[in-house]
Formats: sequence, C-alpha cells, structure tokens
Amino acid sequence: MIELKSEALGKSIEVDRVIGHLDGDSDGPTMIFTAGIHGNEPSGVYALHQVMEDLRLKATPIHGQVYALSGNLWALQRGERFHKQDLNRMWTSERMEVLDSSPNENEDMQEQRELNACIEQIMSSSKGPFYFIDLHTTSSETVPFLTVNDSLLNRKFTEQFPVPIILGIEEYLDGPLLSLINERGFVAFGYEAGSHNNVESYENHMAFAYLSMHQAGIIEKKDFDVKPYYNQLSSRTTHLKDIFEIYYRYEISKEEKFVMTPGFLNFQDIKKGTVLANSNGADVVADHASRLFMPLYQNQGNDGFFAVRKIPKSFLLVSAFCRKHRIDKLLPLLPGISWKSKDKDVLRVNKRVARVFAKQLFHLMGYRSKTWNKEYLEVRNREAAARYNEYQNEAWFRAAFE
Ligand SMILES: [Zn+2]
Repeated sequence: MIELKSEALGKSIEVDRVIGHLDGDSDGPTMIFTAGIHGNEPSGVYALHQVMEDLRLKATPIHGQVYALSGNLWALQRGERFHKQDLNRMWTSERMEVLDSSPNENEDMQEQRELNACIEQIMSSSKGPFYFIDLHTTSSETVPFLTVNDSLLNRKFTEQFPVPIILGIEEYLDGPLLSLINERGFVAFGYEAGSHNNVESYENHMAFAYLSMHQAGIIEKKDFDVKPYYNQLSSRTTHLKDIFEIYYRYEISKEEKFVMTPGFLNFQDIKKGTVLANSNGADVVADHASRLFMPLYQNQGNDGFFAVRKIPKSFLLVSAFCRKHRIDKLLPLLPGISWKSKDKDVLRVNKRVARVFAKQLFHLMGYRSKTWNKEYLEVRNREAAARYNEYQNEAWFRAAFE
C-alpha cells in the first residue's frame, strides 16, 4: 500500500496493486484498466480511484467485471518514471520467458512480476471478452488521444471515441505491456489523457474510463449518463478526430545530451527547417514539413519525438477489405516473399524485395513489424491472432462488422 498526495487535485489516496474492483453480474465482459505504469504519471491512478468509488457509491449496475490496477508502485511513490528500467518496455517475449526465474536486478522487475501475476490471476478467474486499457499522460501539452496496435478489432473499438487515434506505435517501441496483450488477440490500447501536471488530464481520464465501460456494455445509458463525458472529450479534440500513423521516431542514444526546443504542443504542425531540439550542442532540424508527436519534456525516457501523418479514409477502407478477405494470402506468390512457418502469420521478406515494396503494402494487409535479420524483414500479421469470435456478440462489434 502506498500513499499518493496531489496538491493540484487536493487529494490524498492510498492505493495497492488493485486500485479497485467492481464485481458485477455474470453477463458482461471484463475490463482491466492499468495506470501509473510510469511512476511520474499518477493522474490515471487518481482518476480510476475516483471512478471506482463513484460507481460503488452510486450503486450503478455493472455488467461484468471492472478492475483498476496500478503499474509501478515503487516509482509512483517517488514521483519518478521508473527505477532503472522503463516498466512499459519490459514485456518482450524474451523477457516474459524468464520472468519468473530470473533474479530482480531492480525495483521495476519486481513490479513487473507482481503486475503480471495480478493480470494472469484476473484472466484465469474472469470471463471474456477482455478489454485492456492502459492510462498515461505526456510530458508535452496535448489533447487526449489513443495509441492503438493496428488490428481491425482495436480499430473498430477505438473508433467509437471522439479522440484522435495513433496506429502502429508497435513498430517503434519494444515491449509495451499492451503490445504483448495484443499479440494474444485481445482488444488492448493505450490512452493519453493530457500532460502530466494538468488537472484536465485527471478529468479526461475519468471521462474516458466511463465512456469505455459504456461502449463495452458494462454500464448502461439508463443507469449512467455518459453524454457529458463524451462532450467533454469531444470539445477538447475538435479539429483532430482522425486516424494517424507514426512514420518516424527520434531515438535518444545512451550518452546523448538531448534537449527539446521548448514550447511545442503535441500534434503541432512543423515547417521544414524548424529547430526541433538540440543534440550534443547541435541543432536537430526538421528536414520536411510534418506533424510533431510526443515531444519529450522530461529527463527520463529515450523517445525524443515522433512524426505522424493522417491516414486517408480510403486507405482505411481498402485495408479493412484486404484484411477481411485475407488478400495477404496471395503475397507469397510474389518473388522474395514467403511464410516463416505453417501458421501463416509471419511473412519473411527478402531485404532486396522489402526495399521495393513499400511498408504501406504490408500495413494495408495488417502486417506490422520491425524485425530485421541479416537477409530478411519479418512482418507479423496483426489479424491472425485477433479473437474475433470472442467479441462477435458485443454491440459495438455487430455495429462495426455486420
Ligand atoms: Zn506513460
């Protein structure tokens, strides 16, 4: 149990690994929220604590189960992002294989083991379909947005929210918790509510938590009016309700001294030639016009900034069609492309061929990746693992797919 205090919110709360649990009737799904996986982002923890408390006090009928979990308790208590390792970059398959057998070299490893055990325990004792939502805040000022691994299941569930969606972050980050859960085929995505220190982030987290429960059928309109929360988010994202994809990441190297130029907003349009940052005394200049994404204004973390672009509606429609009809099965007919194994979920693309075929082609078909070995690029199909049949009776699913 740790104690968290926020002067800005005028709140002091005590939290454990399980921030709260709403045990509803048996004919609903299970929604698992995580917050504070980065210890310098306590806003989601306060918000979930409040939401769980409010629903409990109002005795709002709950269909299914809702769990709110805290991420890095050690780091939350200290207001630091992490101890030695970013807890949201540790969920790689290599690490998961040795999770229970390797010694703890730092506090983050212990946190990961506990959090993982807690999630496994919930999954073995609850029924699906499962929804995983990871709450974050950013170091720059931003409107609320979603980071979504690119499967149609994720796309369709998240399109219901009045906030911008960022697809394909999995190609740029190793080991976020939700990529792992996504690979197991569940609906899982991240939500960024605003900047770390803005009180609005707390409100945006609460609004999103209520909306998510409503969209998944856990709370019903007749019992709980979510309209004000929808309007609240909608009013903060007016001109940005689009789907974007990341196409560039600036990675800060180990010994690099990196300072972002102050004052950039998330999603800000950048002109060619803009000085974005300073690296070891030299300017980092935008070599083309772009839209800046998640500029780094804190001293921990190695993502300097990203660049995003809007995905045209036509591309989204064509890609939904290709995925539905598994057009990707034709890809191995092309020279230099073959299946990695009988499972037909990973394609091996000869490097020479990969240079010719734009990454976009693979994105279109639902493949996202970044694993290069000596000769091949390996691209993994996001759709192969998706558990469509587990969600097919959900109202949002029927509205989106039928
Ligand atoms: Zn975070």
